[in-house]
Amino acid sequence: MKAAVLHGAKDIRTETVPDPVCAPHGVIIKVNTCGVCGSDLHVYKEDGHDGTIFGHEFSGDIVEVGADVQGIAKGTRCTAVGFSPCGKCYWCKQGKMHRCSAMALLGYQFPGAMAEYVHVPFAIPGRSVFPLPEELTYEDGASVEPLSISYFSVNRGQPKANEIFAVIGLGVIGLYAIQVLKAMGVEKILAAGRRPSRLAAAKLCGADSVIDAAKEDTLAAVMEATRQLGVNTVVECAGNQVTFDQAVGMTRGGGKILLVGIYEEALNWQPLSVISKNLTLVGCLGGNFPAVIELLKNGTVKTKNLITHFFPLDQAAEAFKTQIQDPTAIKVMIKP
Ligand SMILES: [Zn+2]
Ligand SMILES: [Zn+2]
Repeated sequence: MKAAVLHGAKDIRTETVPDPVCAPHGVIIKVNTCGVCGSDLHVYKEDGHDGTIFGHEFSGDIVEVGADVQGIAKGTRCTAVGFSPCGKCYWCKQGKMHRCSAMALLGYQFPGAMAEYVHVPFAIPGRSVFPLPEELTYEDGASVEPLSISYFSVNRGQPKANEIFAVIGLGVIGLYAIQVLKAMGVEKILAAGRRPSRLAAAKLCGADSVIDAAKEDTLAAVMEATRQLGVNTVVECAGNQVTFDQAVGMTRGGGKILLVGIYEEALNWQPLSVISKNLTLVGCLGGNFPAVIELLKNGTVKTKNLITHFFPLDQAAEAFKTQIQDPTAIKVMIKP
């Protein structure tokens, strides 16, 4: 089959690789759509990951079902999450594979869905393989994973309707976070980002006001919009020192900062300010596929305005360049 293979920093080539073999507990999915993720871009920029086949945000049709799999039929339209427990750690030895402390992930430690076919080694309906209701397109299906991160993160902040939230960093995770906050009835959502296309998207997603961080002082703009009180909670999706400092500055006493963006460099967490303002820093990494499939099904959250580019598998290298460089790109997807 064809797959997009990483050969070194920023060197992705579409080439022929062996077809996946279905494990007894696994399924093979013919990939329809696969998103390029921000997490992929961090690895893509580094050396030392040769042979990686990215792709953990995907949808497709099941074409092969392992002998020991129950409750999943060939032909099912689905999205999936792929993990492979180590089999050796404390948890694995107790049979609690889902808690494995050395879990290998699809799209990083073993091949992902930027390929014609992808193998999900442990296929459990409702746990790792999720059938798509007919209301969801394949593009929606490939959006479930990033949306589920936004959903999980926002819920870590336990939002209340009368609160003011700021979302910093308007990649797809931040933009979905705005939609989820809106759906939860949060009174006021301020959004800060740098690209005009994403600021426009933030408006469409339901942000009450948007701050162009390339032109305005984000902190001053948020303080002005909150009568110098600051916000209850910041969803920090940008992941750098500048935005973290802004988040600390704009969160009112007793408020929360949800840490969603991935920090590439060591962070000064501003202990003096965090402690004196009684702030809570909340690490956020997790998802909830069934909940967001429901949000997509009933139309509460929409993917349409956020998926901006499609590329065939042969142009996977172009897809990555576009995701990084094109100012109009929000979510780039590959259609094998
Ligand atoms: Zn992702
Ligand atoms: Zn383990």
